[in-house]
Amino acid sequence: MPASASAPRTAERAERLSAAMRERELDALLVSERLNVRYMTGFTGSAGVAIFLTAGDEAAGAAAHRFLTDFRYATQSAEQIPAHVRREIVTGSLFEAAAAKLEGEGGRLGFDDANVSVRDHARLQERLSEGWQLVPCTGMIERLRLVKDAGELAQIRAAAELADEAMSGLLEGRIVGRTEREVALELENRMRDLGAEPSFPTIVAAGTRGALPHAEAGAAEIAPDLLLTIDWGARLEGYCSDCTRTYATGAGVSAQAREIYELVRTAQEQGVQAVAAGPRGREVDAVARAVIEGAGHGEHFGHGLGHGVGMDVHEAPRLSRTDGEEPLRAGSVVTVEPGVYLPDCLGVRIEDLVVVGEQDREVLTHLPKELTVIS
Ligand code: ZN
Ligand code: ZN
Repeated sequence: MPASASAPRTAERAERLSAAMRERELDALLVSERLNVRYMTGFTGSAGVAIFLTAGDEAAGAAAHRFLTDFRYATQSAEQIPAHVRREIVTGSLFEAAAAKLEGEGGRLGFDDANVSVRDHARLQERLSEGWQLVPCTGMIERLRLVKDAGELAQIRAAAELADEAMSGLLEGRIVGRTEREVALELENRMRDLGAEPSFPTIVAAGTRGALPHAEAGAAEIAPDLLLTIDWGARLEGYCSDCTRTYATGAGVSAQAREIYELVRTAQEQGVQAVAAGPRGREVDAVARAVIEGAGHGEHFGHGLGHGVGMDVHEAPRLSRTDGEEPLRAGSVVTVEPGVYLPDCLGVRIEDLVVVGEQDREVLTHLPKELTVIS
């Protein structure tokens, strides 16, 4: 694909960042977390840091943002780093080099305190010239990433379609009698064949193991007439998808299994309908949770309703009782994934990936949600 067609809108992002930095009265921001570096510069390698300066300082000029990497990435960074960021190849610690670049009369330098090690912090402190003050600023780029642009939405949409296609292919074959691990591996390989990679280790959990929300695929053979939960996602050109479906491995599943399935499906569909710009994450969580609590299963739904998805498979915002104070914003991408887990018995989770719209929403995952019997 030609670079121009998929080039991230890094110049626009730098402008949005600059506005956020002015609000925090920062003169510069050190960006070091890998996905944040990629978001701000387009660089996909593993060793790179960037320093963004607050615009508005005419003396700083348009090309004053800096990106530092080492010789291994000389060619790759030459291809990926946009014109408005000055690229430099350095030796030794990138943090020390970054600090050494900040001469001038000083100011406030933001850094990502959640992702900078104590050692790197010490290096920064040591090399910064007098007058510069380190300011903990974690989450600034994550806040920008929270609202996706059209190009990002197209990539997430494509990842979700690819994951749907991989699952459709998997279900054409036999599932019952194979191990959870074999099924997970086939699904992951199908995503790879389609040009993506798994965005997280695929969960395949049959029967009682379905009652463990984070069960990994195990060595047990999948038996007939049980519920089978599969949670999978694709990462395509840096953007993730995330989806869960629960299937019946035979028409002989119990009446209780069908009842719990329909309960979760109702909660999930009402949760999806509640997604729009405006309500807080915890309010959307509450819509789905009320359905499950109303049926007496509140204690069996022990996790939040959903999470943001983008370059990372778990990012802001959160749809949860404990961590969902921010109103949802149009352009965010979130999951809606209620579950009911009956210990030592069964579990059901249904998850869609949803783009938040101004008044409505766009569901990106399209596999049917009626209880589907597979063989
Ligand atoms: Zn998931
Ligand atoms: Zn999820």
